Parts: sequence; C-alpha cells; structure tokens
Amino acid sequence: MKKILSFLLIMMLLLSAFSYTALAEEPGQGEVILFDIEEESVAELMEEAEEEPFIPESVEKAIFGKDDRVRIYDTSRFPYSAIAYMEVQGECGDSWTGSGFMVGKDRLLTAAHCLVCTKHGKWAKGITFYFGYKTHKNYLYRYNDRWTAWAGNVFSNKNYTTNGDFGCIKLSKNVGDVTGWLGSRWALTDSTVASTYCYYAGYRDGVLRYDSGLPWVLSSEHIAFTMDTQPGNSGGPIFDANYYAVGIIIAHNDQYNIGYRLTTNVETKLDNLK
Ligand SMILES: [Zn+2]
Repeated sequence: MKKILSFLLIMMLLLSAFSYTALAEEPGQGEVILFDIEEESVAELMEEAEEEPFIPESVEKAIFGKDDRVRIYDTSRFPYSAIAYMEVQGECGDSWTGSGFMVGKDRLLTAAHCLVCTKHGKWAKGITFYFGYKTHKNYLYRYNDRWTAWAGNVFSNKNYTTNGDFGCIKLSKNVGDVTGWLGSRWALTDSTVASTYCYYAGYRDGVLRYDSGLPWVLSSEHIAFTMDTQPGNSGGPIFDANYYAVGIIIAHNDQYNIGYRLTTNVETKLDNLK
C-alpha cells in the first residue's frame, strides 16, 4: 500500500509541477515547522466540538449541483471563496501547486505534503494563496504575505506515509474577513463521520471541482471515499452541507481516496500557531 501511495503521490506532484514564469512578484515567505505525529498524538475526544462557518456580506452563497465532479466557475461564491489555490516554492527551488481552506480569520488547513518537495524532502519557503481563483489576473483575493505553518511528518524511512499528512497555516492578515471560512467539526466519532454526506473540493491546474457522497472510516486519522478527485486536489476540504469541514483531502490509491480527519491533534496544532 505504501508503495502504491508513494508512486501516486509522486505522480500527483509531477502532474501538478509547473514553472512560475507568469508571476511578477515573489510569493510570501514563511517557515514550516515539522513535528512528529507519533509524539504529538493526542487521544480523540468523544464529544464533538464545533466552530461556526463565516460568510462575509459581500460574498454570495453557492448552490450545490447534483452532477458528479462539478466544475465550479463561480469560484468567488461561498463556500468556494474559502478554498485556496496554492502556488508553492520549495527551499530547493522547485515549484508545485496544492489546495487549502480557511477555517478561521487567519487559519488555513492543507495537506502536509502540499508543504514539502517530495523529490528533495525540502520544505515550502514561499506560497502565494489565491482565493476565488479564475486566472492569475482574475480572483477574489490573493495573499502574498507572511505565514507560519505546522506540518506532520509524511516520511517514514523516506517513503510517503499518510499518517501525519495534515498541515496548519497561520496567515499574518485576517484573510477570512474577505473570503469567509468553513466551520469545523472537530473529533467526530466514527459513526457521525460515516453518516455525514460530504462534499470534496480542490483545485487542479487552477480549476476548482467538487464531488459529493458518504465517506467511510479507515482509522482514527483517516476516512476514505470513492468520489472523484484529481491530482492537485490535495489539501482541499471535505465538508458537510452546512459548510462545516470534517476532513482534508490527502491521497488516493486505485480503489479509493483518503482524507485526514479533523482530530483533536489537528485542532491543537492549528490553535497553537503564532
Ligand atoms: Zn525539490
């Protein structure tokens, strides 16, 4: 399984790699702090904590369609406005793309592997976050300022592992006031998460799509779903019909896709960012 996942991950990253010729400015700089998931692991609470979603007055609400893998043209409508298309530059000089999503005024969740170059094991140095992205010149909001991040360790003996694959980012401005943010449902029980009808959304090559359906539980950290995702969707939100996030899209194999659950550990890391 690990081999399949690492192969697919590499394919995902290769497919999403591109050059920055179109960008005039340097992306906002920041620092990724790595932590070891094993040491930091916190027992999941059985009670289900919630934080409310926020929809700015200037942002319209989207209506979900019924088709599979819907392309979203109205990327600046909520909840899509809260999803980031991330253009990332590594310390090694490589570039790649990923997705992330706002869960508070200045907090964003993504996959840890969106913050690392798997070719060289080098961390992200610069990130440009586009919200409501259509093109490099047409978007709701672009964030190009400083950030700090926590990232789980996604490598075990140099192989990719889904175990620590979540990333928490704090932005230095209240971007959420413009983009809105998803609510968050922390530490859901297995039965609650498995009975929550979910939407799965992410950017690939600057195009935002979503699909929907029920997930199932793989472990205390992971859920699975068979709905369509695409390379580059990594880091995108898994959320319910009331705009509450329940997970992060992180990987796929030939049978299903994998999401990282919003565990107490993720909540703690997100809250502790300064
Ligand atoms: Zn690299």
